[in-house]
Amino acid sequence: MEKILIANRGEIALRIMRTAQKMGIKTVAVYSDADREAPHVRFADEAVHIGNSPSTESYLNMDKIVEAALKTKAQGIHPGYGFLSENAVFAQLVADNGITFVGPKPHAIRVMGDKLAAKEAVKGYNIPMVPGIEESITEISVAQKISKQIGFPILIKASAGGGGKGMRVVQQLSELPDQMERAISEAEAAFGNGAVFIEKYIESPRHIEIQVLADTHGNIFHLFERECSIQRRHQKVVEEAPSAVLTPKIRDAMGKAAIKVAKACDYVGAGTVEFLLDSDKNFYFLEMNTRLQVEHPVTELITGIDLVEQQIKIARNEKLAFSQQDLSIKGHALEVRVYAEDPLDNFLPSMGNLETYKRPKGKGIRLDDGFEEGMTIPMYYDPMLAKLITYGQDRDEAIQLMIQAISEYKIKGISTTLPFGKFVCEHKAFTSGEFDTHFVKKYYTPELLHQQYAQEREIAAMVGLKLFLEHKDILKVPDRENSNWPLKRTK
Ligand code: ADP
Ligand code: ADP
Ligand code: MG
Repeated sequence: MEKILIANRGEIALRIMRTAQKMGIKTVAVYSDADREAPHVRFADEAVHIGNSPSTESYLNMDKIVEAALKTKAQGIHPGYGFLSENAVFAQLVADNGITFVGPKPHAIRVMGDKLAAKEAVKGYNIPMVPGIEESITEISVAQKISKQIGFPILIKASAGGGGKGMRVVQQLSELPDQMERAISEAEAAFGNGAVFIEKYIESPRHIEIQVLADTHGNIFHLFERECSIQRRHQKVVEEAPSAVLTPKIRDAMGKAAIKVAKACDYVGAGTVEFLLDSDKNFYFLEMNTRLQVEHPVTELITGIDLVEQQIKIARNEKLAFSQQDLSIKGHALEVRVYAEDPLDNFLPSMGNLETYKRPKGKGIRLDDGFEEGMTIPMYYDPMLAKLITYGQDRDEAIQLMIQAISEYKIKGISTTLPFGKFVCEHKAFTSGEFDTHFVKKYYTPELLHQQYAQEREIAAMVGLKLFLEHKDILKVPDRENSNWPLKRTK
C-alpha cells in the first residue's frame, strides 16, 4: 500500500494522515464544499472534491469516495470513525473495486453493527451479558412480561442504535407502553430500523471498554481498557486509561472476554469491545465497535503503540510484531473531548468563527485537532473540535496536566466544553476515582460553572486592586502636553 485515501474529515483525517506520512505512504483527502480550506485537505498529498456540504452528499457518498480512490490510484481506504466506518455495504463496495478497506471484513461489521445480532454471535462463548432478551419485540404484552421477569428499571434499546441514541429508561410498568411506542418510532426515524429490545438497566455502572487488535494470521491481543464513564446523553466526554478501579484480575478477565468477542465474528483490525461494570465489579458485554474509536489516543499513550499504524499493517496482511506478553501499561492518559457546545446552555451547539485559537503545548500534552485560527466551524458535521490528551506517570499527574493544558488552550469566538472538562478534572468524585455513568447528572449544573467563573473574576479583580494600591505612588499620569494621545474629540 503506497497510497491511501482517508474517507473522513477533521481531526481524525489529519491524525490518520500523520501516521501514513510517517510510514512513507502517500495520502489522498476527500472534501465537501464546506471543507475546501480545511487543514486535512491542505495536509494531504492530493485532495478530491466529492460534493456539497451536507454529509449525505459528500462524506456519506460511497460512489463518489470509491471513484476518488480509483481516480487517484489509492490502494487503500481508511474510513476513520463515524460516517461510513461501520457501513458493511461500503466495506464491500471498496473490496469489490479492488481496494483494501482498512478495517474488518463486511461480515464482522454487519454482525457487530446490530446489537441483537452481536448478542447472538457471542452466545456460545460464555461472555457475561446484561440480563435481557435476545430478540426484538413489538408486542407490549411481551415487553410487560419480560420487564416483570428482569425487574425494573429496564432499558429499551434500538438494535441498530449508536452514538448514545435510541435508548429509553423505564422505571415502572405503567410507563412501559408509552415508552415502547416512542422507542420504536424513534429507532425507525433515526436508524431506518425499528427493532428494539429490553435490557436490565444497570443502576450505577461504569463504562469500560477493551481495545483489541487482530491480524489476518489468527493473532488476537488486547491492549487493556479505557474508562469512559464520564458521559452526557450516553455519549463519552472524558476518557482515560487505565481505569482507576480495575484490578489486574478483572482486567485480565475482561481482556480475555474481549478477545472471545472478536473471535466470535472473525475480527480483523483494531476494534473495541464495550462493557458495563456494575457496583459489585461484575462486567457485562454491551457491544463491539468495529473501527478506530474516538478515544484511541489514551491507549496509544499507555502502550506506546500507534493504533493507526497497526491498522495499516494488518490491512497489508502483516503479522502483529508483538505478543500479549510484550504489552504492558505505562503511566496514565486522560482525554477531554472539546466540543463546540455551550456547557452553560444545555450543551447546545455553538457555531461561529474561531477568532482566537491558541494551542497548549508541552511535555505530556497531545492535541488532536482539525481547525485553525480564523476558521468557521461548519454546521453540517459533528461538533467535536479537538481532543485534548495528557499523559503522566500516574493519574494525578495526568489530571494536573489536563487542568494546566485547559487553562492554556485559548479559544474565542465560540463556546466550547473546555470549562466543563476543567470542572470534571477538579471534581472530588472524579479525582477520587469514585464515579459512574451518572457523574454529569449527579454533579454538574451550569450554576456551578458560573460560580467557578465568578470566583475567578473576583480573584483577578482583587489581584488588580492589590497591585494598584501597592504601586499607586510610582504610577505617573503623563502631562497633557507630553501625551501621544490626542484629546478625545467631544464635538
Ligand atoms: P466512540 O465510541 O468512538 O466514542 P461515539 O459514540 O462517540 O463513539 O461516536 C463516534 C462518532 O461516530 C461520532 O461522530 C458519532 O456522531 C458517530 N456515530 C456513532 N454511531 C453512530 C450512528 N449509529 N449513526 C451515526 N453516527 C454515529
Ligand atoms: P451506543 O451504541 O449508543 O454506544 P451502548 O450500548 O454502547 O450504545 O450504550 C451507550 C451508553 O449507554 C453506555 O456507555 C451506558 O452509559 C449506557 N447504557 C447502555 N446500556 C445500559 C444498561 N443496560 N444499563 C445502564 N446503562 C446502559
Ligand atoms: Mg457504545
